Order: sequence, then C-alpha cells, then structure tokens
Amino acid sequence: MFSTKAWVHQAFEPLAERFGAEITWLEPRLGLETASLAAGHEVVCAFVNDQLDAAVLEKFASLGVKLLAMRCAGFNNVDLKTAARLGIGVVRVPAYSPYAVAEHALGMMLCLNRRYHRSWARLKEGNFSLDGLLGFDMRGKTVGIIGTGRIGQVLCGMLKGFEVKILAYDKFPSAALTETGVEYVELQRLYEESDIVSLHCPLTQETYHIINEYSLAAMKKGVMIINTSRGPLIDTDAVIEGLKAGKVGYLGLDVYEEEKDLFFEDLSDQVIQDDVFVRLLAFPNVLMTAHQAFFTKEAVDNIAETTLENIREFLETGTSKNRVAS
Ligand code: NAD
Repeated sequence: MFSTKAWVHQAFEPLAERFGAEITWLEPRLGLETASLAAGHEVVCAFVNDQLDAAVLEKFASLGVKLLAMRCAGFNNVDLKTAARLGIGVVRVPAYSPYAVAEHALGMMLCLNRRYHRSWARLKEGNFSLDGLLGFDMRGKTVGIIGTGRIGQVLCGMLKGFEVKILAYDKFPSAALTETGVEYVELQRLYEESDIVSLHCPLTQETYHIINEYSLAAMKKGVMIINTSRGPLIDTDAVIEGLKAGKVGYLGLDVYEEEKDLFFEDLSDQVIQDDVFVRLLAFPNVLMTAHQAFFTKEAVDNIAETTLENIREFLETGTSKNRVAS
C-alpha cells in the first residue's frame, strides 16, 4: 500500500484481519523510483496522486503484480490500456461518500461568499472591521453544476435548501434530477447565467481545461468557480488572468493541476517552488484546501471496506463489480 499516511493506517488496519489481508505499509508516493517496493506482492493499493503510467505498470508486471486497487473514485492517473495489455486488473471505490465532497463544495461556496477565512484571520489580530467582508444572499442566485453524477446530484439537493436556481450540464442528463427542478442547459448558457459554477465531472480528454480563457470569457463578471473534482479541469494560468481582471470574483479549489508535488505532505519548512501555486495563494478571493473534500470519517471507512472487498472479490473470482474497464 503506497502513499500511506496515518489516516490510511487507522482506516485499514482494523479491517485487515477480517479480510485476511497482509498489508505492507509504504509511505512513499508511487512512482518509477519506488515501484520496485511492490516486489513480492500480488496487489498494489494506490491513491489519487500516485503515478500509474506505462513504465510503472510494466515494472509491476515484471514483479508479478496482478491487481491495482485504487482507494479512490477517480482513475485518471492510471494508464488503463497498458494495465489491460499487461493483464493487471484495476479496481476502484466508485462511491464512498458523495456527501463528503458535496458538503465540502458547499462549504467553500459559503466561506468564499462570506469570507470566513479572512474574518477569522482578522479577528485573531484584533481587527473587527467589516470592510471587504460584504457577501451576497445565496437565495435567488443561479448555480451551474457541471457533472451531475453522484456528487453533483447530492450538491443539487443541498442547494435546493438555499432557494437558488440550478442549471446543470452533463453528457448524460438525469431525468430524476430534472424532476426536482434542476434545468439541464448547454454549457454556453450555464456559463452565461451562473453566479457560481461548480465542477463535478471526471477528468477526461474532453474535460481537460474545460475552464479556460474561452469559457471564462462567457461567464458573468465576478463569477465564483468551485473545483472539488480534479485540478486539470481548470487552466490555472487562464483563471489567474481572470482573477487579476476581476472576471473571476471568487475561486475555491480543493484540487490543483500540479498538486502531486505538494498535497498530502507537510512542506511547512520548505520554500514552495511552484510559482503558479504561490500566485494563487496571494489572492484574497481564493480559498484552497489540499484535496480534503473526501476526508470524512464515513468516507474513509467506506474507502477501506470497499477496497478490501474489491481485492477479495477479484482474487476469488478474477473480477470485481468495481473493476475499471480499459
Ligand atoms: P460520477 O461518475 O458519479 O459522476 C460524474 C458525472 O460527470 C457523470 O454524470 C458523467 O456523465 C458526467 N460527465 C462525464 N463526462 C462529462 C463531460 N464531458 N461533461 C459533463 N459531464 C460529464 O462521479 P462522482 O462520484 O460524482 O465524482 C465526480 C468527480 O469528483 C470524480 O471524477 C473525481 O474526480 C472527483 N472527486 C474528488 C474528490 C475530492 O476529494 N476532491 C473525491 C471524490 C471524487
């Protein structure tokens, strides 16, 4: 098990005996330089920022690895074609708690709007001024949801309580969601009419940089953009230009294009080398968290249980209901 942090240990360890799993805890992130640590293991368990490209998978095949168990929903970092060619099965945890991510996205919207991050910092300095903290009522605003799968749908349900108008875009619209009053529209209209745009689609070739200079140009001045999905959905340079021009009024990111060199590590003693990331930190209207949207007790327990169940099922039957097709 690569990229193991304390929370991974705490979630998996109590279940290991029940599943008859012998786990080797490997703290390093998975990459070509660490892949050989999988020697002697049938199964590799990896996470969102591990590197699972052709070279790493070739290494695994040479070591006799049979299964790659992703302990996350997204699998954009896995070269599925190579895995299939090498006969390495890939399983994932498709749903562990859509509530965790949807609640985090909603939390980011409220925090950015009412500027809790700024007022808390001020308050601790003894500054009780309200200047610069003016928010807006959510009620009556238009929220655009891109991707109405599990997380997007849960977020729509939560937003209904705020009496907002919800516009949605998905390649496969949900009839059930339409019945709740959500209106599916083309992306262009969603961009033009939304006060808040929240991203809940997977990262694919089609969605890479879906937020770019052209989509930003179509949006309302002062729009709020929330990304709790995958960093590369947003062209970071374009959004920085948008922030500088005032086109983007608020930006909430739980994920970042180049996060793999930063997130999940304590780098507080180091000089951050990523100038783009540091530029983002300098905006008062940007709120960032380090890929923590999934991180609730319920979600983590589900991740551990489902991952071990996926592995057992695959080893016993040669496949799994949570197998990822190439
Ligand atoms: P899901 O598969 O249930 O839903 C994804 C939706 O996106 C589907 O309805 C699909 O039709 C739609 N979609 C696919 N391609 C699209 C496109 N080109 N344009 C618009 N819509 C498109 O997935 P989910 O469980 O709702 O998760 C969504 C994403 O959230 C995941 O792919 C993952 O990247 C991300 N995620 C992030 C965290 C976190 O901690 N930040 C945790 C879990 C998931």
